[in-house]
Amino acid sequence: MENLVIIGSGPAGLTAGIYAGRAMLRPLIIAGQAMGGQAASTDEIENYPGFPEGISGPELAQLFQRQAEKFGARIEYDIVTDVDFSNHPFTITTYGGTIEAKTVIISTGVAPRKLGVPGEKEFSGRGVSYCATCDGFFYNGKEIAIVGGGDAALEEGLFLTRFATRVYLIHRRERLRAHAAAQKRARQNEKMNFIWNSVVTEILGDEKVAGLKIQDVETGEESELPVDGVFVYIGQIPKTGLFVGQVELDEFGFVATNRRMHTSVPGVYAAGDVQDRVLAQVVTAAGSGAIAAMEAERFLAELEGEAYPERQLGQ
Ligand code: NAP
Repeated sequence: MENLVIIGSGPAGLTAGIYAGRAMLRPLIIAGQAMGGQAASTDEIENYPGFPEGISGPELAQLFQRQAEKFGARIEYDIVTDVDFSNHPFTITTYGGTIEAKTVIISTGVAPRKLGVPGEKEFSGRGVSYCATCDGFFYNGKEIAIVGGGDAALEEGLFLTRFATRVYLIHRRERLRAHAAAQKRARQNEKMNFIWNSVVTEILGDEKVAGLKIQDVETGEESELPVDGVFVYIGQIPKTGLFVGQVELDEFGFVATNRRMHTSVPGVYAAGDVQDRVLAQVVTAAGSGAIAAMEAERFLAELEGEAYPERQLGQ
């Protein structure tokens, strides 16, 4: 019987591991396929406090992991296939077996939203990518496109200018959603070329991507853009498929939480991007992971009939 099972090993899950570890709960973190979540595939993180020169995503993830393990968190590289939160203790099924848990923190994060156009699936891994850090190197000296106008599109687009000779940024509006500093850097970078008011309607190629079919949303005019690759950064969808019918989800499929990271099931908490549609930063994921772990500690103390000091966090 586990005190606390943390599902997911991004900044939220690992921070929950640090706090729960320090609270002597010996939490079990089920890491999924890879450690560190999306942050670990980010080239550079400039806005996590304490690193004024920035830090690479993989390095930060490793530091989080080391700190969690130092305090007694156990990490298993396994994948959760089913959960049952209808009875307490909760049941979590993984490829490795079945686990019973007194408390659970859901920190499964988000996955890239797909364009959903012809050619996207066929050329995935052959010119269509969702990870600039993983695949940017393959586009040394080539021309590529990036789709989206948010922080991820701009920051990853800027990263790709290290390799590509030209990066076209295709955005469906004329205004970027990204924060001002990224916008300024992108506009100043000579390799960045903006294609406004446009959407990708098809990804073209034979064996691999050779170009894109683009439509101007104002005039309806279609054109072709020859590129060797396309990176899609059009937002994120929460990884909550496992939790449908188990905890309440919001209208967009994110786990519904209150300010204390409680879900609709007492003893089950959620932290990080899986419950955050607004900011989705490493620092906010870490913060919510800490809150979730402290709330799990409170729940466990109450189960044992211990008095627990009330923290005035509000509901
Ligand atoms: P996002 O902020 O939701 O931006 C998604 C972008 O894709 C928007 O520009 C959106 O256009 C566009 N888009 C959405 N659906 C589309 C479609 N079907 N076709 C074409 N374009 C589409 O997503 P994100 O950039 O992945 O960022 C997610 C969260 O992570 C945000 O909270 C962001 O601040 C955070 N983040 C932060 C950093 C950082 O601070 N360093 C880095 C990366 C991500 P519209 O603008 O027209 O809606």
